Amino acid sequence: MILFKKTEDIAQFLIRKKKENATIGFVPTMGALHEGHISLIAHSKKTSTLTVCSIFVNPTQFNDKSDFEKYPVTVENDIDMLEKAGCDVLFLPSVSEIYPQDLPASSVYEIGHLQYIFEGKFRPGHFQGVCQVIHRLLSVIPADFLHLGQKDYQQCMVVNKLMEILHLPVTIVVTPTRREKDGLAMSSRNKRLQANDRKQAVKIFEALTFIKTSLKPGNVETLKEIAVKQLSSAGFVVDYVEIADASTLETIKNWNGKKKLVAIVAASLNEIRLIDNMLLND
Ligand code: AMP
Repeated sequence: MILFKKTEDIAQFLIRKKKENATIGFVPTMGALHEGHISLIAHSKKTSTLTVCSIFVNPTQFNDKSDFEKYPVTVENDIDMLEKAGCDVLFLPSVSEIYPQDLPASSVYEIGHLQYIFEGKFRPGHFQGVCQVIHRLLSVIPADFLHLGQKDYQQCMVVNKLMEILHLPVTIVVTPTRREKDGLAMSSRNKRLQANDRKQAVKIFEALTFIKTSLKPGNVETLKEIAVKQLSSAGFVVDYVEIADASTLETIKNWNGKKKLVAIVAASLNEIRLIDNMLLND
């Protein structure tokens, strides 16, 4: 695996590879890698001749400074995992490399209502930060395929919208959520859970499974309320449990029995905020 820290170096290298007809699969991450990230690398290796991973904890997408400061950093282990997974290129830039002082100020990305609901409501500015970093990374990495995880369902929709408004010819590939044996969605933040909270954390998966198995046409509000109660009594502070149209994220109160739905949850255990989702009728 070749490691680049400078935007100019990686850009030149990849332009050369493109001239040699390489197809580039790009997996942007914030590091503290786990098997979920590696499944994106594996997917990219199947679709592209060159797989590029970036590790960059993007300050502009953190609305909470202490969450940013406490974000786990495990670079040596990450490099080891990427080597084993057969990743070809790692981009490990500094903040000043991604946001140099002479970079023109980024405009507001017109991503519409998506930025104000669910994660957007609880993390103001988060999705603008996500758009900013993806836009910047794609200006350096001429990706053909951009690999994202279903774990961040709303983010996938935001990035899709971003590709549309920027007219970027990048194909988004979404990989299903990898889970621990008990069902907890793998996440870099899981590393910060205390032992007892780690045991409780599975309740998010159980609440989503409850919604999926209990879903019937008609009013679905009660399902959400029961799921919130399940999580609250397990010690979670619940930001939201929503049942939404899987393609627009419009909240659904009465289900017609046909529309594809997704259930989405964000909840914290001792200030460690976890998110997860489940397609309900795929
Ligand atoms: P992050 O490092 O958390 O920004 O995640 C980088 C990419 O990995 C994003 O596209 C995530 O959606 C994806 N990802 C994170 N966790 C998982 C998981 N458990 N399964 C599959 N993909 C994941």
